[in-house]
Amino acid sequence: MIPLVKPFIPDKRILMPALEEILYSGYIAEGQPVRDFETEFSHFIGNNNCLALHAGTDALHIALILAGVRQGDEVISTPMTAEPTNIAITMVGAKVVWGDVDPNTGLLDPESVRSLISPKTKAIMLVHYAGMVCDMNKFNEISKEYNIPIIEDAAHALGSKFNGNYIGNNSQYTIFSLQAIKHMTTIDGGFIVLKDDRQMSRARRLKWFGLDKKVSRLENDIKETGYKYAMNNLNATIGLVQMKYLRRVLNIYIDNGIYYDNNLKNINGVELVKYYPNTEPSYWLYTMKVEHRDDFIKMMESNGITASPLHHRSDTHSIFKDSKRELPNMEKWYSNFIHIPCGWWISDEDRNKIVNVIKKGW
Ligand SMILES: *Cc1c(COP(=O)(O)O)cnc(C)c1O
Repeated sequence: MIPLVKPFIPDKRILMPALEEILYSGYIAEGQPVRDFETEFSHFIGNNNCLALHAGTDALHIALILAGVRQGDEVISTPMTAEPTNIAITMVGAKVVWGDVDPNTGLLDPESVRSLISPKTKAIMLVHYAGMVCDMNKFNEISKEYNIPIIEDAAHALGSKFNGNYIGNNSQYTIFSLQAIKHMTTIDGGFIVLKDDRQMSRARRLKWFGLDKKVSRLENDIKETGYKYAMNNLNATIGLVQMKYLRRVLNIYIDNGIYYDNNLKNINGVELVKYYPNTEPSYWLYTMKVEHRDDFIKMMESNGITASPLHHRSDTHSIFKDSKRELPNMEKWYSNFIHIPCGWWISDEDRNKIVNVIKKGW
């Protein structure tokens, strides 16, 4: 079976010596390799304010704290995401307010978000689901008009672009995940990326018990609760090796995605997603809509290809029962969206086969 997701792990002959050296170096906690990884990641994104963490979820938690979201506040978010996005909002005691999605893209609808803004709204959580970028022109306008910060959950969107720049240069807060199945993995890991450096020193303290690493332990004074969210040298070493492959790996995702955009056009029962102005997806998963989805999945499976919606909508969990509301466009989207394999493991032959199988119908 051709899988929908697959971790990219660099060549053993390059990765293992680097890992072995760090593992026996006597310094395996957070040290120089983490700083080096931050520097390389910052160069890639084009933004110097990138802070490495143990997970993307940690980055979401810190972003919410920095945005000033507290108990009783509201955060407008999307049900069309993986679990960490909205569970993180509960970590600061805030209420999730479900925005509806655009039924053509599955991404949060700016007009729905606008209609839900209240005096309690402290942040807007955007998810660039599957690597597709939200309608940032409109969201930037809303953020400015109401003076509400945006947190971009870019766990699926490393290498996606808005206005020609990589995601991670637009909003006050952006988070990335380096978990096993993301575009780039360090086994577990994440980044919080800030638009400017004003909150950088607080972010650094929040990831390490509230301690200031620049000051000696004896002189340190903890002023607020911090967490144990630092990345360690081993994960960072994997990241440093991954950076050598990142552009090549991303290019395969993107090249395959564009191939599907061009070759799955005008097929009966298939509706492709139109991307928003000034955005370029990095196709973590290839996303489209199909008629008779269950039959489509079975047909693909019988041809050795995985096709799946992959994520379960977040708003049906009991923990969010107080947030329940009707989301008519989400219903429309949720009933027929599908993902097909698109990543670095898909060869030209595979993608050609996938297109031909879909063309034959189901
Ligand atoms: C993977 C993921 C995260 C972060 O997950 P971690 O496993 O904590 O790195 C956040 N949001 C989304 C949408 C994700 O898919």
